[in-house]
Amino acid sequence: MILTQCAVCAAPLGLSLGKKCGRCSTRYCGPECQVQHWKEGGHDKLCKLIKKAGGAEQYNANKKYTEAVAVAAEACTEDTKGQTCYICTQALHWKTKEGLVRGCACRGTAGFAHVSCLAEQVKILVAEAEENKLGREARKARFLRWNTCSLCKQDYHGVVRCALGWACWKTYLGRPEADPLRRLAMEGLGNGLTEARLHEDALPVREAELAMLQRVGVPEAYMLSTMGNLAGSYATLGRFEECSRLQRGVYSSRLKLYGEEHGQTLVAANNYALSLLKLERFEEAKALMRKTMPVARRVLGENHEVTLRMRQMYAQLLCRGEGATLDDLREAVTMLEETERIARRVLGGAHPLTLRIESNLQTARAALQLALRARICNLYP
Ligand SMILES: [Zn+2]
Ligand SMILES: [Zn+2]
Ligand SMILES: [Zn+2]
Ligand SMILES: [Zn+2]
Repeated sequence: MILTQCAVCAAPLGLSLGKKCGRCSTRYCGPECQVQHWKEGGHDKLCKLIKKAGGAEQYNANKKYTEAVAVAAEACTEDTKGQTCYICTQALHWKTKEGLVRGCACRGTAGFAHVSCLAEQVKILVAEAEENKLGREARKARFLRWNTCSLCKQDYHGVVRCALGWACWKTYLGRPEADPLRRLAMEGLGNGLTEARLHEDALPVREAELAMLQRVGVPEAYMLSTMGNLAGSYATLGRFEECSRLQRGVYSSRLKLYGEEHGQTLVAANNYALSLLKLERFEEAKALMRKTMPVARRVLGENHEVTLRMRQMYAQLLCRGEGATLDDLREAVTMLEETERIARRVLGGAHPLTLRIESNLQTARAALQLALRARICNLYP
């Protein structure tokens, strides 16, 4: 469940604290909040509606879905002017009256649709796959359509992805916890909220997902990717301590699971080092990079994006560590010059990583200049 707070005072309830309304399952920290909600919060009228919708969790998802569709259609107004839905061929949806969206890589007049029509289509495809007992891969391919446009094959992004995340979650949330589709829907909702930059909303979904995975027991690899997602949510909210604790866990588990040469282990090492950098624990981060960076260069090669990321990180650490020496700064500049050349050739000049390396290089050069000048001043006071 993702509703983990008291409906009145928002006190955190985790998974089992507090009490629930016996009819609609709305959660409260205790009887006081429950009574207040009934008398003053309008629950006396809402309770029946919520129960009819299928309980508090379903009611919340339905409501959030409608809001997210409105946000997505609003954001797409300019782009969708004068267009029609490629599924129902109308401009306005016959039932919901929602507007059109497009949030993929489709161009020209292709790919305009109603979120409701997209959702209805995938729902049917997935249900068919289940009825016909299609194989795992076929079922997975159909489920992917919740995230991916069937025309351009690219992932939906931004607020459209978020609306589809709610659509998917409201479709499968009533299933048993161990049902893989419910699990995937929860992950998809977290991704959708993150895509729409609603990090405050994504965090409780990610937390609930991890707790649920721990309860039902899934392969460790699956759990680790959820931990990584949750760490990402903590980082975007500036909660670096929690982020770093999770990243350390992911790194040590991957190390045990796959060994030090595996790409996933190296990515995890880099993520852990980044979290240490944010906490200004430079020496620990440097030590980790000195151990793992040579492995990446040897196993993945100099042109690999992960190698480039690690070298970029190490160069930053060299500049930012306490008492960075002239040699540190020189080493950082040389390393960034090298990686900039490679990134430009392999990833292109407009790639976010290339741009970041360039900006790091400018900062490192400026720091070196400053240090050199300071030394000259010291020599000739
Ligand atoms: Zn309360
Ligand atoms: Zn109720
Ligand atoms: Zn439509
Ligand atoms: Zn498309």
